[in-house]
Amino acid sequence: MLELEKLSVNYGPVRAVNEISLTVGAGEIVALVGANGAGKSSTMKAIVGLAEATGSIRFDGKDISETSSTQRVGDGIALSPEGRHVFAQMSVLENLQLGTVARTQSRQAALVEEMFELFPRLRERSTQRAGSMSGGEQQMLAIARALMSEPKIFILDEPTLGLAPIIVDQIAELLVKLRQRKLGLLLAEQNAEMALEMADRAYVMETGAIVKEGPSATIAADPAIQKAYLGF
Ligand code: ATP
Repeated sequence: MLELEKLSVNYGPVRAVNEISLTVGAGEIVALVGANGAGKSSTMKAIVGLAEATGSIRFDGKDISETSSTQRVGDGIALSPEGRHVFAQMSVLENLQLGTVARTQSRQAALVEEMFELFPRLRERSTQRAGSMSGGEQQMLAIARALMSEPKIFILDEPTLGLAPIIVDQIAELLVKLRQRKLGLLLAEQNAEMALEMADRAYVMETGAIVKEGPSATIAADPAIQKAYLGF
């Protein structure tokens, strides 16, 4: 469903992503593993049109590399960026509603209901100010808000960063539910253990390039990967 070919991202003279190619299919979880600064976030931003890139980005068979980020969201690509960007002064419900500005009220209400089923905790806290919730709850809200745009491809940048193990488990469960809905998931994680356990396939990024790719189990069994990313 999503196909990158020779995608590069430059920030002035800095080449953050160097001609990478990767694919994500419907109902597939794909992990993007790599150290801090390897280029994962830049790749993700480029896919949604928030970082200028060269090379080709195809979605559902169409080249989208010249389209606006608004258009890409409309087409069905959503990004949950690193760092839980919720609107702290707004309620949980208002945050969710902001994820779907272009829809009818009844459709919006149905989507909010769907998110409350997926994240029961958010229903309990629907009138609470987002900024007063725990880090884990804010992350759930950030994910739910991105899902309000009804994506076919969902890109998650470091969803578990700084969260307690129990919340990490809840996010992992959520990803499995999303896969069952036939969403394609691209997951960037410094928590390589969790990402490789969840994912069907994985790409390993180092200094802007993909240095390894394959089924997650194969990547996780690779001694060099174990040493570099899994702490063996
Ligand atoms: P992290 O997990 O820390 O976000 P990452 O793998 O996502 O790391 P990127 O954030 O994509 O990596 O960064 C890749 C490279 O691009 C790094 O060298 C970084 O310093 C550089 N970089 C990222 N954003 C910018 C920017 N806006 N301007 C200049 N350089 C940038």
